[in-house]
Order: sequence, then C-alpha cells, then structure tokens
Amino acid sequence: MKPMRILLAAVVGASCVAGTYAQERPNAKPVNAIKAVRFGKLWDAKGKLWTNAIVIVEGDRIRNVTTDGLAIPAGAETIDLSKYTGLPGLIDVHTHMTIYTDETPGEPMLKQLAANPPAIEVFLARKGALRTLEAGVTTVRDLGADQYMDIAMRDLINHGEMIGPRMFVCGYGLYVTNTPYKPGMNSTAGGVADGVPEVLKVVRQQIAAGADLIKMYASTGTDDDVTGFQTYNYEEIKAAVDAAHKFGKKIAIHSYGPDGARDAVRAGTDSLEHATDMDDATLQEMVKRGTFYVPTIDHNRYYIENGDKIGYAPGYKEKLQAFIPRNLETARKAFKAGVKFAMGSDAIYTMFGQNTLELGWFVKAGMTPEQALRTATTNAAELLGKEKELGAVAPGYFGDLVAVEGDPLAEIEVAIYNVKWVMKGGAVVADKTKDRGH
Ligand SMILES: [Zn+2]
Repeated sequence: MKPMRILLAAVVGASCVAGTYAQERPNAKPVNAIKAVRFGKLWDAKGKLWTNAIVIVEGDRIRNVTTDGLAIPAGAETIDLSKYTGLPGLIDVHTHMTIYTDETPGEPMLKQLAANPPAIEVFLARKGALRTLEAGVTTVRDLGADQYMDIAMRDLINHGEMIGPRMFVCGYGLYVTNTPYKPGMNSTAGGVADGVPEVLKVVRQQIAAGADLIKMYASTGTDDDVTGFQTYNYEEIKAAVDAAHKFGKKIAIHSYGPDGARDAVRAGTDSLEHATDMDDATLQEMVKRGTFYVPTIDHNRYYIENGDKIGYAPGYKEKLQAFIPRNLETARKAFKAGVKFAMGSDAIYTMFGQNTLELGWFVKAGMTPEQALRTATTNAAELLGKEKELGAVAPGYFGDLVAVEGDPLAEIEVAIYNVKWVMKGGAVVADKTKDRGH
C-alpha cells in the first residue's frame, strides 16, 4: 500500500485540494481537531440565514453554530471565510463515479471504458471524485457500476485512502436481457434479471455484496438512446421495490418514458430518475406518496457538447436536443403539482465537477434559488434517509460546508460557479480562496 499513499499525496499536492488531515497532522486522528469557521452569511438549510456565523466543527461533526466569538473553544483553529456565504455540503443523488474517463485525444470515451480493467477504473476515478468535491458536492448517491467498483471506491473513501465525496452505492443496476447497458462497454451480466424470481435474486445479491440501495432500469434510454420503452412489467418492479424495502434499503428506478414511470410510482419506488411526459395522474400519485423526482435534465446538455469525444454515432445531437424540452416541461409540471425534487446530475465520463449545473434547470422549471438549493441539501438527505446527519448546518450534522462568493439565494449561478472552499467531514478538501486574479 505504501507506493499508493505516496502517489496519492503527489496528486493531492498538485491539485487545488489541500488540508486533508493526513497532510496536516501525520500522526493525529482528526476526531480531536476543533475548527471554527467564520462566514459573512450562512444559509443553514434549517430555515435561517445567519449574518457573521461561526460554525464550530469537532472531528467530523458540527458541534455548534453561533455568532458569539467567545463560544470558540481555546485552541480551535480559526478559518476566516467572512468574505463568503456558507452552505451545507451539497448532495448529488445520481452519479456514476466509476464510469470516469479523460479526454485522451483520439480515444473515444466509450472505448476507454471497455479497455480498462476495474482496478484501473477505480484508481482513475479519484480524479472525478476531486472535481466533484471542488463543485461543493460532499455526498453522492451512485446509481450503477460494474464489478462492485462503487463499493470499493466508497470504502476507500471512507477509510481515508482516497479523497472524494461520501458515497451511497447500489452495485449493479437491474436490467432486462437485451438492454444494452452501455454500447461499446465490456459489461458483465451482473445486473441482468428477467421475471420475478430473478429480480428477487439480483436484488438480494446487491444487498449481500454491500449495496446501500437498489437501482432498477425500468425503461430503455441511456447515452444517445432517448427511447423510453418500458422494460420491466409492474409485477417485476413491485417485486424489486418490496424486496429492497424488506431489507431496509431504498430503491431508485430509471425510466425515460411515462409508462415505466407510472408503474414505478405505483409500485412504491423511493425515487424516479429521468422520466419525461408523465401524466397528471402519475404526478398526483407522486405527491401523495412523497416520491422523489430526479429529472437529470443537464446530462443531455453534456452529451450534446461532448458526443463526438464520447463516440456517439452521428445524429445524436438532434435526438438529445429534442429530449431536453420534454424533460424540462415535465419538471415544470411536476414542480407545479407539488412533487418533491432531488438534484441528480447523472455525472459520468468527464462530467464530474459540473454536478450542480442541474440547479440552473430547476430555476428554469420554476423554483426559486432557495427551493433549488433544497433539492441538493435537505431533500436529497431525506431521499438518502440521512436527514439528521446530512444536508444542513446544525449541531450533530457532518462537518460538510461550502463557501461561495456572492448571494446564492439571489442567483443560483453563485452556487454553481463560485465555489471557493469545501470542507467534508471536518477536513478541508478544496480551497481556492487564495487563488489570484479570478
Ligand atoms: Zn444514470
């Protein structure tokens, strides 16, 4: 393991990431460190906008939020961010952290993925993990990986061997025979399940492997394929939902079209990913059941901009461009109807770091900037079942903090583009406050 640690330190030193406890205090455990972080303004996601807030972080948790300088414990390290507005660490509820690629010239991203063994993919994925943190995202819900690379990455991050967002992972997503999971990708059959008995078996296998939640693909549609044909029938979907819930796990169901969405909602899914063209009855059912909608509007924007480098066949731009307005219109209708939203980017390939662009689409769909921020904080935490630990700045919550320059409640772009500093679990993981000439 030693060479890997040295390499990791070199990578950390070369990027914007600074101040992990391993560098600061080689032999000290972080749990003893106390930090007092001063913000000019602080949006705590608990309904309060503070002026001159001091957040006291002990180890990996927030001990107190105050405006009283005398409350800072003796010996605490003070971090002065009084030029900035503080936010809770943001949560992206739809990523594919282990499907990371770079922009090696002449090498289509789909080919890179097919060529790389899992161990190499996990090692490369640390770069996407850093970009994600730099965007202010300190927690992700990762929705589909091969070979349990997501579990490996989650555990490496939790053990401090890799620097990245806290990950909640699903192992293999369930899909029916003949659904090409990723064209050109050397995909194993770990998630294939047809019929109720196989669905039950594959759900149980993911949980046995250590998955935090279950993912099911209930329709076609991925990458440059925007068809939304339902793949699993209601009985299969219901079996997956009930099996996940019996183990105390949540389930996320993918559907590009309205049919899979309707059956996923009816079957009791916790979140619905992507879905377009949903009818009023489905939206009302989502409101009634408290189903989260994760529309992932921005990922098609990313595909349009990068399709040639990814390796899509010609014609992809028109198809994707036609899908975006349907996606946005469905989001607008859903928000108006009172459906709960959570922010998911569907970040993949080189999209890491662009995770929060989705918030701009949410404002276009009718949200205020504050309502948009809730989708990446309190709402996302509720979807994870972690609403008492994540998504807010309050005593007992994880020490996940973001400093932005400007007023994110007036302009959502501030939260998207002006992230200056990030703390995750009490450790500073990104710091651009000293960058010159911005
Ligand atoms: Zn996805």
